[in-house]
Amino acid sequence: MNSSLSSAALGAITEVMQENAMTDVAVPGQGLDSILLAEPRGFCAGVDRAIEIVERALQKFGRPIYVRHEIVHNTYVVNDLKAKGAIFIEALDDVPVGATLVFSAHGVSRAIQLEAQARGFQIFDATCPLVSKVHVEVAKLHKEGFEFIMIGHKGHPEVEGTVGQVDDGSIHLVEDVADVARIAPKQTAKLALVTQTTLSVDDAAEISAAVIARFPQVRAPKQQDICYATQNRQDAIKILSPQVDIVIVVGSPTSSNSNRLAELARKLGVTSYMVDSADELKTEWFEGKSRVGLTAGASAPEILVRQVIDRLRALGAVSVQKMAGIEETIKFPLPKGLKLDA
Ligand code: SF4
Repeated sequence: MNSSLSSAALGAITEVMQENAMTDVAVPGQGLDSILLAEPRGFCAGVDRAIEIVERALQKFGRPIYVRHEIVHNTYVVNDLKAKGAIFIEALDDVPVGATLVFSAHGVSRAIQLEAQARGFQIFDATCPLVSKVHVEVAKLHKEGFEFIMIGHKGHPEVEGTVGQVDDGSIHLVEDVADVARIAPKQTAKLALVTQTTLSVDDAAEISAAVIARFPQVRAPKQQDICYATQNRQDAIKILSPQVDIVIVVGSPTSSNSNRLAELARKLGVTSYMVDSADELKTEWFEGKSRVGLTAGASAPEILVRQVIDRLRALGAVSVQKMAGIEETIKFPLPKGLKLDA
């Protein structure tokens, strides 16, 4: 597997090594001792924005606010917003006339957008701007006559939203290298490659290479559409994994980027588990392990990480070290109409 790191992450490794040189390294087999916290971890700018859109809509327009699909794939976040007055729906039939509707961070198809507009809902679009960027690119190239090969996971709402930007079946979904041989575009002169934003960086690179090998003329983005947050969290796991005996990822089972983190740690040879909350941690996982690596997917709130730390302390961990890592400063603006004083 290609486990290459971005240059920013390579800088972070040096800092981590310096930091660790000053830390006592626990001896394996002596029981749970220390926790190494991945950096960056948890909420990304797109998730922050999506949650803020629902919270502001609730404050400004009152409950209920309807949200199409889980606003982000996290049980805690969804339950918290439900308690505040959000109602999560899949079918627009379940939204009453005149209601306020928020599209989730994963984005929606053109058909859903048009139907929601036709029904006259007040709409706030919490689609992550990095997903919208892919939608805009697809719409633009489609007008120019392009067909698309999309690398992504079938059934994931982001993939459904991106594939649904065109209505003529001109986006061919590939989930793995084997799929690349199976697709049958109508023409090959105008083909473009797009990807889901939350894929494994290494797997996507391998599938992209297979696409380019079969269709050398394919128009590929300079960088894959995989977002900065997914890339940074995977880079952090590559730095963290060799230093620990076990990796715990905080994330919900539906979260694509969280699943990729646990999968990556396993590929790097480290036992890894994904948990939705601290209650899911099992004592036997930590038998014979002394150093625990801890991270969180882009949709998992820090409060859950804190609860996992408390539980690990109860199981014997005595120290928590923070890995050096990239500082994320990116912030996306809110849609118009959600200023609280407007
Ligand atoms: S994981 Fe990436 S694409 Fe998804 S919401 Fe966060 S920044 Fe946007």
